[in-house]
Amino acid sequence: MTKKLYYEDCHLAAFTGRVISCEQGEKGYEIILDATAFYPEGGGQACDLGTLGGVAVLDVQEQGEEVVHLCAGPLEQGALVEGVIDYDRRFHLMQQHTGEHIVSGIIHRRYGYHNVGFHMGANFIEIDFDGVIPAGDLPAIEQEANEALWKNLPVHCWYPSEEELPNVFYRTKKALPWPVRIVQVPGYDSCACCGVHVKHTGEVGMVKLFSVVGLRGGSRIEMACGAKALELLNRAYEQNRLVSQAFSAKVFETGTAAKRMNEALAAEKFRVTGLQRRLFTITADSYVNRGDVLHFEEGLEPALVRELADAIAAVCSGRAAVFSGTDETGYSYCLAAREGDLRSFGKEMNAALNGRGGGKPNFLQGSVKATRKAITEFFTFDR
Ligand SMILES: [Zn+2]
Repeated sequence: MTKKLYYEDCHLAAFTGRVISCEQGEKGYEIILDATAFYPEGGGQACDLGTLGGVAVLDVQEQGEEVVHLCAGPLEQGALVEGVIDYDRRFHLMQQHTGEHIVSGIIHRRYGYHNVGFHMGANFIEIDFDGVIPAGDLPAIEQEANEALWKNLPVHCWYPSEEELPNVFYRTKKALPWPVRIVQVPGYDSCACCGVHVKHTGEVGMVKLFSVVGLRGGSRIEMACGAKALELLNRAYEQNRLVSQAFSAKVFETGTAAKRMNEALAAEKFRVTGLQRRLFTITADSYVNRGDVLHFEEGLEPALVRELADAIAAVCSGRAAVFSGTDETGYSYCLAAREGDLRSFGKEMNAALNGRGGGKPNFLQGSVKATRKAITEFFTFDR
């Protein structure tokens, strides 16, 4: 049975252990020590990484009473080796995990919901709950979680006796057989858990709840703790600083500035569309009774290409073809006619000009990957 040093001292980063066995497996060397500070993957928490006797530890798993270290190289049986865990990684995991306990405990007390899923991404931790948490409640939950940190409460982990266990309250998804490891944050959480946690809540540093969304009748909270929370807030703040510079707005007034800018853009777009339509009328007037028309216009969205083709087709007494775009990006087009069927002509054009699109017999829309010269030559050819 491996002595689990990580349960005795969660801050133990270096230790000495004797090699009990070393066996070559498919993915590396499976090494068992008499004692280890390497936490094996379990309870939703990732395993520790680091080195054993200078050899890289790739994975750590629990097998019965033993902790098996998957290593990149072999170690001599019976040898005393020094183990060094990647403590920054471990501390990060303990900060996120302990913070998750506090938030889950608060939510369980407030709403009676259970933590039913957990995922640690590169940025956020996601926790799923089996009930709806109103987004408006998030600031109060976050405040309460941070108060638990400011009180710097001891995180108490222990195994109650078989007689004691029925009288201990703890969060769990299902009834657990004795022995059960209990992790308590006094006044905030009591939970059955085999993970590693910080010793005092102050070490979590900070709890930041970023969002809550509905998910299959429950809720998913995105959060981060400690150094990770600070990093994410700094990144968001840096983006906000750039927005504030771009808008010449104070850093805490960028939202108002962005809203004003959007309103100004919408008004400008409305004005430009009005001018565009007046220009379309003038353009169409120049094609009255001109028969088939090929027209290029710069910088039109597909909807406006369609409007212009419609305006020309109404007066030209023939077929109207309008193209907008550049030789580099290609052109969007609209073919329109008051009578007749344009579809076979459209197919022929798409084939010749590397195009796609379709529509109704007298109204076709699409795009071509061709130059203005190639388009003009196609339409000049008498057909
Ligand atoms: Zn835990």
